[in-house]
Amino acid sequence: MNVAQVRHSGGESVHYDLVEDFSAFDLGIEALSFQAPVHVQLQVNNTSRAMLVKGTIHTELKATCGRCLESFVYPLDLHYEDEWAFRTLATEDLLETALLLDKDEIDIKDRIFEQIVLALPMKFVCSAECHGLCPNCGVNRNLTPCNCGEGTVDPRLAALAKWQSND
Ligand SMILES: [Zn+2]
Ligand SMILES: [Zn+2]
Repeated sequence: MNVAQVRHSGGESVHYDLVEDFSAFDLGIEALSFQAPVHVQLQVNNTSRAMLVKGTIHTELKATCGRCLESFVYPLDLHYEDEWAFRTLATEDLLETALLLDKDEIDIKDRIFEQIVLALPMKFVCSAECHGLCPNCGVNRNLTPCNCGEGTVDPRLAALAKWQSND
């Protein structure tokens, strides 16, 4: 990306529409990868103090469901908001929070990747209704009804049955 267009005049703004291939980036989680390029749309506004950047990040990840272990496509839509400032002009607070630029040409891939990683859920589940694998016989309960009886007994009733048989 090149910010030369906006860097010199306050009030200027420019729109960027970028499609980047992130497949070489390691998401740090086993069986999680980029299924599609990352589409970034940004509006960069020169506020004189810094460049205020707002936009969206969209991509699709290939994930594995933590319940049924099937792989599925996980769409990721993020809001992006950031401040970019030239290192030599940045105020003290900007030095700590802004993305610092040394030249007009900047590579925001790392910054975008950071946002994606921060937005990842703790656990991937293919759907809120996913029934997962039977802990007893291992069938995928989304595809096959399980016949082994596991999960059909209310644990309170099971405890009661045990108590009665001990009596
Ligand atoms: Zn699932
Ligand atoms: Zn079962």
